[in-house]
Amino acid sequence: MSPKKYSFMKSIFSENALNFSRRTRYVCESMTERVYPSKIILPMKQHYGVDAIPTVEPGDEVLIGQCVGAPAPGTFSVPVHSGISGKVTEIKTITLPNGVSTKAIVIESDRKRTFHPSVRPRQDLNVDAKTSMGIIKNAGIVGMGGEGIPTVAKINRAKKLKVKELLVNCLQSEPYATCDLHRICDNSDYIVMGAIVIASILGIKNIRFLISCDRKLELGFLQNSIDSIKPDNPDLKFEVVKFKERFPQGHFRLIARALYSIELNENDTLEESVGAVLFNCSTLNAVWEAIADNMPFCSRVVTIAGDTTDSHNVLVPIGTPIRDVLSKMSPVFSSCRIVWGNALTGLSCTDLDTPIIKTTSAITVIKMLESPKTPCIHCGMCYDACPIDVIPSICYKLIKTGHEKKALLENAHKCIACGACSYVCPAGLDLTGTIATFAAQHKKKSPTNEAMSNNSRTRFTMDKIDIGDASLLEAYAEDDDMYKEDIIDEDTIVLPFEGGKYV
Ligand code: SF4
Ligand code: SF4
Repeated sequence: MSPKKYSFMKSIFSENALNFSRRTRYVCESMTERVYPSKIILPMKQHYGVDAIPTVEPGDEVLIGQCVGAPAPGTFSVPVHSGISGKVTEIKTITLPNGVSTKAIVIESDRKRTFHPSVRPRQDLNVDAKTSMGIIKNAGIVGMGGEGIPTVAKINRAKKLKVKELLVNCLQSEPYATCDLHRICDNSDYIVMGAIVIASILGIKNIRFLISCDRKLELGFLQNSIDSIKPDNPDLKFEVVKFKERFPQGHFRLIARALYSIELNENDTLEESVGAVLFNCSTLNAVWEAIADNMPFCSRVVTIAGDTTDSHNVLVPIGTPIRDVLSKMSPVFSSCRIVWGNALTGLSCTDLDTPIIKTTSAITVIKMLESPKTPCIHCGMCYDACPIDVIPSICYKLIKTGHEKKALLENAHKCIACGACSYVCPAGLDLTGTIATFAAQHKKKSPTNEAMSNNSRTRFTMDKIDIGDASLLEAYAEDDDMYKEDIIDEDTIVLPFEGGKYV
């Protein structure tokens, strides 16, 4: 284990502002709680890319793990599977809080929890790289820590760029959010095995697990799993790298700064700049669930937390309405705001039928705060909070007064929409909304209208803008052809999930 503690210099620190998150209480749970919804609403677009196509009709019976949405032919698309057994009652168009409008399959539970016969432990776990890719593709796995980039596309891009190192992101740092940390406690073996699968597909030997030094329990689980799995994989080099607990440490640009002492510009990627690829730990858990259990990506752990209640982590079928998730909380008061996502980067949500999707890591309930709305008092707190090379108060003023060129000189376009400046601003200024919107407008246009960020607890109100390019999604889109090449080779791909495009 690396003795050094990595981090970047500024931002919100756990020992002060993050104390409100009560981030240690969740570990009291002996096991992950489960939510059994009476119905699920499964959007066909939950990821970066094109909508899946429904393969079922109203009246059809479906089982847990059954594919109900096939990837659109020849596109950057992933399949969708049911996380409950029951009957399809409706296919309708819904609009998610991030502005994405898509078809959604409504399935009413039969309360029998019957698994599709294809969901069963795999007998022979010695799957080759091509087979693993087929399984990951057919399982509908997308990145669970952010915009939902299809995992197969990310692997393909890393392969093309010949990366040398796999980084496992265990650096969940946003206030309240603990679902990834909980996964580490419950499934560290799965995370390590998922990492080994990806490393062997990419043909790389170095796997580094990035985790906060304060997460001692998770560190212990992770190290135990590595120690027990390592003897079977003598060619691989495992390392646990400790970081200081800061928000937003898990962002790839801040990881690059801490780990490689390199500044990534807004169009740089880890793959190209340092020869490393970064995967969220929960995504790797999903990879091994697909390989070992033949279980497609149809459920996930979600943190439910907030100002007025204890934190829980619950395992929910994808598509569960947030109304059912909130039933696990103590009463939610009317003076609270419900956030679809994390406290600083999630989206306010009023429709309790809004479903959990593959990228929803939290439902956060936040007290409504009266915004002070005063002019800037020049306290400098936003500068101290901003993790990148930006002075939010100056950028805000320049943007608001139409001085765009000067705002660019102040690096406003580098904003990563983390929400930290708005959170700390005592004047209640909409710093993040203003600067992140500006940043999005001054980057290359992304092909989709997804991956928006917004504030909930604090005061910024970003409209439904496209900040997908802020996370370099287009770089993955460019590799769509490569992605297609890998998935159309039907002779060599095992098709574990019934109902999909190639079955
Ligand atoms: S939202 Fe942008 S400007 Fe504000 S702290 Fe985060 S990176 Fe800095
Ligand atoms: S935190 Fe708010 S009040 Fe303080 S300097 Fe920044 S913009 Fe001004």
